[in-house]
Amino acid sequence: MQVDDCLFCKIARREIPSEVAYEDDEVIAFKDTQPIAPVHLLIIPKEHLLSVNEITPEYEPLIGHLFGVIQRLAQELGVTESGYRVVTNTGADGGQVVGHLHFHLLGGQALNAKIG
Ligand code: 5GP
Ligand code: ZN
Repeated sequence: MQVDDCLFCKIARREIPSEVAYEDDEVIAFKDTQPIAPVHLLIIPKEHLLSVNEITPEYEPLIGHLFGVIQRLAQELGVTESGYRVVTNTGADGGQVVGHLHFHLLGGQALNAKIG
């Protein structure tokens, strides 16, 4: 299910333009508009889930598939060997701004802070 006023649902529906790097029936990946690294993609399920807190067992295949997409994108972008980081901010203290589950794929340079 998608949500009418959710930014990332709108991106998934192509109502708001984005630079799409990958798409299938369940997942879409697009460039972050404010990149903090040379490689900075956002990978999301098309279904509206608020955050990690909503990943119940029925979504395990979807999340497994999504991580397969992340692996493939890392390969395509040439960061598999050099390394990369996958980040999911959850809730206020986690720094989550957009309320639609998303995974940041960051790489292309040495990323310094390990936490925080
Ligand atoms: P959060 O802090 O919720 O984990 O990250 C949200 C991310 O979404 C931020 O890195 C921000 O730059 C990105 N973002 C916000 N609005 C848009 C948009 O309209 N398009 C795209 N492609 N990225 C966005
Ligand atoms: Zn949404």
